[in-house]
Amino acid sequence: MSHRLLTGRLVIATHNAGKLAEMRELLAPFGIEAVSAGELSLPEPEETGTMFAENAAIKALAAAEASGLPAFADDSGLCVDALDGAPGLFSARWAGPKKDFSGAMARILAELDRRGATDRRAHFVSALVLAWPDGHTELAEGRVFGDLVEPRGAAGFGYDPMFRPDGFDRTFGEISSEEKHGVDWRSGAALSHRARAFVKLAEACLRRV
Ligand code: IMP
Repeated sequence: MSHRLLTGRLVIATHNAGKLAEMRELLAPFGIEAVSAGELSLPEPEETGTMFAENAAIKALAAAEASGLPAFADDSGLCVDALDGAPGLFSARWAGPKKDFSGAMARILAELDRRGATDRRAHFVSALVLAWPDGHTELAEGRVFGDLVEPRGAAGFGYDPMFRPDGFDRTFGEISSEEKHGVDWRSGAALSHRARAFVKLAEACLRRV
């Protein structure tokens, strides 16, 4: 499938303020005007897929169709090795309707204890999909590997305080947004799962201004 270049306006198909802020920062060098699904009052489609990429495509296509603009969606989550990949696709749902991530992080640690697991390996996954109103889609995925620790730090969102990426003493809750998802555009190097996926999509579909 041929890649398509993105220009002009686009919708960021999320109602998650943390993701929205990160995606806006990632898009900043590309001269693209980004409006969010929340700002356009677009409905949130049901995420019925069984893979991150499927759910990202559901969200991006629904927003592109409803708005008539290209749309950008991320589906992401935290996969814990000793929990057979949970919470994974259900990462947002583990926090419940009140989005209680302190509770969700405590649940992960309790579940590991219950299983007597000493393995603390985990990774974040991000599947990013750009969809156009005519149904064309582009997909890229990124991962970041690390260890789970007792939650520390108030930066970021979701499970950030309990995730210490490989090569760091600090958790995602203790590092700046620039360190977490900043991109070195000369080398394409990036740390977070979302930034790594974004670099791949940008190489295919975006031009820096
Ligand atoms: P969804 O993709 O909207 O279904 O939700 C993904 C969920 O995964 C978020 O609500 C967070 O709980 C978690 N998550 C995804 N990316 C990150 C991240 O960068 N930091 C912390 N938590 C994340």
